[in-house]
Amino acid sequence: MNRLLLLGGTAEARALADRLVTAGVDVTTSLAGRVANPRLPAGAVRIGGFGGVDGLRAALADYDAVVDATHPFAATMSRHAVAACSATGRPLLRLERPGWAERARPSWQWADTHQQAAAAAAALGRRPVLTIGRQQLAYYLPELAEAAVLARVVDPPSIAVPPTWTVVTDRGPYALPGELALLRDHRADVVVTKDSGGEYTWPKMLAADELGLPVVVVRRPDRPAGVPTVYDVEQAVAWVLTGD
Ligand code: NAP
Repeated sequence: MNRLLLLGGTAEARALADRLVTAGVDVTTSLAGRVANPRLPAGAVRIGGFGGVDGLRAALADYDAVVDATHPFAATMSRHAVAACSATGRPLLRLERPGWAERARPSWQWADTHQQAAAAAAALGRRPVLTIGRQQLAYYLPELAEAAVLARVVDPPSIAVPPTWTVVTDRGPYALPGELALLRDHRADVVVTKDSGGEYTWPKMLAADELGLPVVVVRRPDRPAGVPTVYDVEQAVAWVLTGD
């Protein structure tokens, strides 16, 4: 597995690239190109879509194996990786950040879709904080058009937001004091998040808990079946270095 394609866009992917480059592996991280100034990992980087399954299949001629370390909500990329790897016989590993279901609080309400999450948020409060990503904001417009929304995103949204909304651009990892201040300053009455999992954005859940706020959590999309999966970077390093 000397030439590795690492499907990235996450902190875990950057950590894995770091470890593998140090170990002498020829790693190319692939980024979708959604973020204006992405944090770049060690090793080679390519940016932009492959052009669907066929494009990825063609690109795999240059690689021996693939690690899919994309975000848990990047379902299309993961599906394409499965299809292209099975067509080309390239080994594929999924590096999956553990979700938050095991840490769920009684004040959390789960939603299967962003539309459901928007309806739940509208029923729970008038001053929601949305931390669901820039690309999904449009789902919240119909239900929350008149609410005092605070939307935290990495890059400014491409859609026009209502005058009652405030957009804050910021980038994790976040710490508890800042998250408490954000929720208090906005006088938030509900928080909406995806089940992104991991530690980098967990402090907002602690802050909501401390302030007694309800949280609406959007469930992860289903994963393709049959893909070997690990849940931390060291296990992924072992897979690449020893095939185990
Ligand atoms: P997606 O819906 O699964 O992917 C849509 C298309 O974007 C894919 O078909 C592919 O285009 C391209 N793409 C996605 N990830 C790519 C990658 N790592 N390298 C090259 N092309 C990629 O994904 P998404 O939700 O738009 O997320 C895009 C990227 O942002 C992912 O890499 C993910 O790790 C990162 N990210 C996503 C979220 C989230 O909540 N979804 C949060 C943080 C970071 P082609 O079909 O043309 O190959």
